[in-house]
Amino acid sequence: MTGAPEPGPEGGATPPPGPRPQGPDGPPGYPPAAGGTAGPAALLPLLRQVLEALAAGAARRGGPIPAGPPAAVAEQVREALAAAPGPDALARLVELLAYGSADPADPACAAHLHCPPLAVAVAADLAVDALNPSQDSWDQAPAATALETALLAELAALAGYDPARSAGVFTSGGTESNLMGLLLAREAVLGAGVALDGLPSGVRPRILASEAAHFSVQRAAAVLGLGERAVRAVPVDRALRMDPAALAAELAATVREGGRPIAVVATAGTTDTGAVDPLPEAAELAARYGAWLHVDAAYGGGALLSDRLAPLLTGIAAADSLSLDWHKLGWQPVPAGVFLVRRAETYAPLARRAVYLNPADDEEAGYPSLLGRSLRTTRRPDAFKLAVTLRTLGREGLGRMVDACHDLARAAAEAVRAEPALELATEPQLTTVVFRYRPRTDAPAASDRLNGELRRALLRSGRAVIGRTELPGTGPGRVRLKLTLLNPRTTPAQVARILAETAREGRRLEESDGPSGRG
Ligand SMILES: *Cc1c(COP(=O)(O)O)cnc(C)c1O
Repeated sequence: MTGAPEPGPEGGATPPPGPRPQGPDGPPGYPPAAGGTAGPAALLPLLRQVLEALAAGAARRGGPIPAGPPAAVAEQVREALAAAPGPDALARLVELLAYGSADPADPACAAHLHCPPLAVAVAADLAVDALNPSQDSWDQAPAATALETALLAELAALAGYDPARSAGVFTSGGTESNLMGLLLAREAVLGAGVALDGLPSGVRPRILASEAAHFSVQRAAAVLGLGERAVRAVPVDRALRMDPAALAAELAATVREGGRPIAVVATAGTTDTGAVDPLPEAAELAARYGAWLHVDAAYGGGALLSDRLAPLLTGIAAADSLSLDWHKLGWQPVPAGVFLVRRAETYAPLARRAVYLNPADDEEAGYPSLLGRSLRTTRRPDAFKLAVTLRTLGREGLGRMVDACHDLARAAAEAVRAEPALELATEPQLTTVVFRYRPRTDAPAASDRLNGELRRALLRSGRAVIGRTELPGTGPGRVRLKLTLLNPRTTPAQVARILAETAREGRRLEESDGPSGRG
């Protein structure tokens, strides 16, 4: 049901000729708007200022992040905001924003699922900002409404869904998509009307997700009135993938204890390590217990673009719902989340009739509405930038970028192995490499403290932004460092330099701590 309805009886009417009402370019006396025939001319000199200030700020920064402690940036922001209002504010504040950014276009900015957006996608998004369409009603977004519907059908097909039967929406990201998946799971499994009437008494709904699943799963359970403790953590294997035997055991235990498994959440690419849960086994077990399968592919969904990596996601089409984030492995500016369901009819609990947005007679007359697709009301067309990107590069072009980042992660793992002071935690699966600095006095507390300090020292120096997490592993302690590699223009030599810098900083910190060590 991603296809737009047929035009209604009034669909073919042509507008009468004659003078048009007052256009957007008058009357004068107020600052110009970005739209209309006059908008682009008003924007051009401002954009020139923005682009020059972006370049100047990046040059002043001179690295992936401004050097110095947080207070130094905060002080510059305070000063800039204290200036009197005037036309120089744009250039001044853009320069400061650019200077004070962690810039994912810099090869040494590799901490998070924080991608360098493509220039073409940013340019496309500028058009969206200028026109400000909102997708809560057709009369605020005629072309954008049709475009989102068509693009979602394309993405559904990419995931292996039948695009004629599926439905979806663009979201703010995995957090919102996971909430929607679990909301529809709750409605589908506990019966229609839960949203209106509340949970039936005596039912103890449970959600099963791996220990390595995203925290938004717990958050969603709380928002849905199930409580964070409704989420049972399923143990993971050594590669940090959900262990299917453990999932089977947790499902059986849930039922034995009087709980009702409403959803299994499988993660296709965990945030921390890129581990992909066994999707076919999760689907089989979810079906056996009458539970909804939600696949959180916020990170790993990008693998669908790559012939080499798509097989990692085999089984994803069995999901009842899916989270995909194109602001991660998709090089879109934030936000570019997507939520999809396999069967459009499961979307029914979100249907909404607002008399001023989607009156029934408008819909009957052929005016489609996306209001019932989203938890939001006002909603910008984030599909547009992705549509432009896909039409510019094709799936193949984006797939080559995914492969380049995967190659880079493998090269980084090799470089970690080659450096005796560093220790690899797990083999990279997507584009993330997790490791630690191994101190001379390799006790758990020493390792954790040194790795934490080491990351902050690199941040303060402005030379590298690397990630930090905590994982069980072979080495002592839990604190691990990570590189999340999302920049296909980064070279293996540049990654090797970041790792060498990390090892050097670790040795420097150990030496400045003195030979007595920190056992
Ligand atoms: C990033 C991520 C999320 C959260 O997505 P946002 O876009 O930040 O809301 C959820 N799940 C996984 C696996 C993620 O990697």
